[in-house]
Amino acid sequence: MKTIARRRFDCLVIGAGGGGLRAALQLAQGEANVAVVSKVFPTRSHTVAAQGGINAALGNMQADNWHWHMYDTVKGSDYLGDQDAIEYMCRAAANRVIELEHYGVPFTRLENGRIYQRAFGGQSQNFGGEQAMRTCPAADRTGHAMLHTLYQQNLKARTHFFDEFFVVDLLLDPDGYALGALVVEIETGEPMIIEAKTTLIATGGASRMYRTTTNAMINTGDGMAMALRAGIPLQDMEFVQFHPTGIAGIGILISEGVRGEGGYLINSAGERFMERYAPNAKDLASRDVVSRAIYEEVHAGHGCGPKKDHVLLKVDHLGEDVIKKRLPGIRELAVRFAHADPIEKPIPVYPTAHYSMGGIPTNRFGQVVVPVHTGPEEAIPGLYAVGECACVSVHGANRLGGNSLLDIIVFGRAAGNHMLEFLKENRYHRPLAQDAVDRGAARLTRWDRQGDGESVDRLCDELRLTMEEHCGVFRNQEKLDEGIKKVRELEKHLQHATLRDHSKIFNTARIEALELENMMDVALATIHSAAARHESRGAHSRLDYPHRDDRNWLRHTLYSREGHKLDYKPVRLKPLTVDTFPPKARVY
Ligand code: FAD
Repeated sequence: MKTIARRRFDCLVIGAGGGGLRAALQLAQGEANVAVVSKVFPTRSHTVAAQGGINAALGNMQADNWHWHMYDTVKGSDYLGDQDAIEYMCRAAANRVIELEHYGVPFTRLENGRIYQRAFGGQSQNFGGEQAMRTCPAADRTGHAMLHTLYQQNLKARTHFFDEFFVVDLLLDPDGYALGALVVEIETGEPMIIEAKTTLIATGGASRMYRTTTNAMINTGDGMAMALRAGIPLQDMEFVQFHPTGIAGIGILISEGVRGEGGYLINSAGERFMERYAPNAKDLASRDVVSRAIYEEVHAGHGCGPKKDHVLLKVDHLGEDVIKKRLPGIRELAVRFAHADPIEKPIPVYPTAHYSMGGIPTNRFGQVVVPVHTGPEEAIPGLYAVGECACVSVHGANRLGGNSLLDIIVFGRAAGNHMLEFLKENRYHRPLAQDAVDRGAARLTRWDRQGDGESVDRLCDELRLTMEEHCGVFRNQEKLDEGIKKVRELEKHLQHATLRDHSKIFNTARIEALELENMMDVALATIHSAAARHESRGAHSRLDYPHRDDRNWLRHTLYSREGHKLDYKPVRLKPLTVDTFPPKARVY
């Protein structure tokens, strides 16, 4: 390979979603020289798709406080979330949302000028009492508003953007310091080394590895796979959130905000079936509970439509005005993709893969932490991760709606602050050895030649179908073990795969192959972790182990790529200043 061009920055941020941009802003405002690399134009990052809103106990609609929010988040996580990180996030929420408002996010307003807040699943007042209204929306396009605002603030702060550059691999030195990344410009295929004193991974989730998903083509778990290849284990990967209301057969999201505004689910008999599964919270029980209920209704023969394969989300009773004002984007999606105008008829829905609760293990400062067998876990010097690719862990076994946008804002800022501290003590670039670049470069050159096996496209489809069939809403040992075999087989085929139309679109075809390699690694992490966890907790529902087992399984999974090894570490049950919420039965 010819000499690779090099650029140097204080900080490298991989990913321009809400997590990456919030961190970059903190860094740029702190006078650091920051590069943000994104494989798509920043405002096309997946945060743009977030609909319903961001949680903060502002108390604009009714009494509320961060401690109730913390309780709901711990309970929602099925007690697997780390309570120190959850306390930190919920306490910080109000200030961070008001800060966003000051940056220019056009939140929906009440008559009195305050931010409107809507009801979302799993949220209560007074530690499990009445439904809370805590989610702050910008109509049903909250992520769009946030991402555009953060991008504009970054332009103002002079963050440097590398748009449509694909990060191939992290660069680490033998002492374990993060030194930047090897990237490739998508348009030209030219590689480049970005050297940095500190690096943040903010590459988003991996739900694209499922056939039916709310996630865009770009959510292929690249950052998670980079971490695995660098020898960093992934945490709690078995916990994949299936959102209850994807448009049936397509998977596109119909926000929980629709049920928050008063929409509800019905089966083929017109019955409001959630009353049976969650007598108090009903349609606003947490997502794992509602997804399982829909699945069970359909499998009991109570599904709707000619194939009886979905249920209906009824909204028309809210009236045309409310639907047009508060749910305009949802209406558009329903009309375009389900041919159902919610003003007139219900929307056909079914659970769809939505969110990765697991990811790169971090502490609440965003530092990537790894277990060491001689004592407590240690931070990898200079390496940080935030957002959906990370596991801090505030979502545990099940994320509450509205908490992900909060996660990326709170921990994006926290990571930015910690990176500024790191820079004070690490003022110079560490030398980069050639062999640090070699592994990534080898990944690139491997796809310079055409294979003679199955196509990358076909293997990708097979992977996504396998994950849906073997590691979906309900799981059992036999299916999971079979799934592992199938994914490993697909991984072998990938070695000889043929790229799509070699002559005309070579470089994008090469990127697709690299993304599929990433997805295979992340899929293996997910299915191996799921096969080993012999209990049901949050989004991980085992038919053969139907109960939660705190005695044996109140612990985080750590999966390493090398030998598909699994390890475990304790959940941090102790919050920062308040008392622990001890695990108890989770009813809604
Ligand atoms: P993303 O926004 O996904 O950004 C990832 C970035 O990494 C992108 O810039 C991408 O280009 C870049 N990247 C990835 N790989 C590479 C690579 N190899 N090289 C270079 N760049 C790379 N949460 C809520 O709290 N409230 C909601 O209402 C809500 N609604 C949602 C609706 C939908 C349809 C979906 C799918 C999710 C929703 N979520 C919601 C979840 C939330 O939007 C996401 O979890 C969150 O926005 C993720 O942000 P992020 O910064 O971690 O990653």
